[in-house]
Amino acid sequence: MPEAPVPDPVWTDARGCLTAAGRAAIQAAPPGAAPAELAAHLASCKPCQYRLLSDGRPPPKPGERRGAPLIWRVAALGVAGVLLALFSLLLVRWLAG
Ligand SMILES: [Zn+2]
Repeated sequence: MPEAPVPDPVWTDARGCLTAAGRAAIQAAPPGAAPAELAAHLASCKPCQYRLLSDGRPPPKPGERRGAPLIWRVAALGVAGVLLALFSLLLVRWLAG
């Protein structure tokens, strides 16, 4: 019975996640021909998928914000709120006669 091929230790870290060399091996492999062990891990590991697609950046923590809200969005919401209040007052006055 043939032994299962052992993944190159340089390709994975202690947790079994892909190292930079592992990601490079997957990216260098032709489509469908990536090393099976690496492909199997990648299929089941979200952080590794993220790092592969984002060029090695670590995945964001759950709930982490990606920057402050843009000031123009806050201003637009404020203006919309004021306009809504004005139209409500005008509507009430018009309805009241
Ligand atoms: Zn992983």
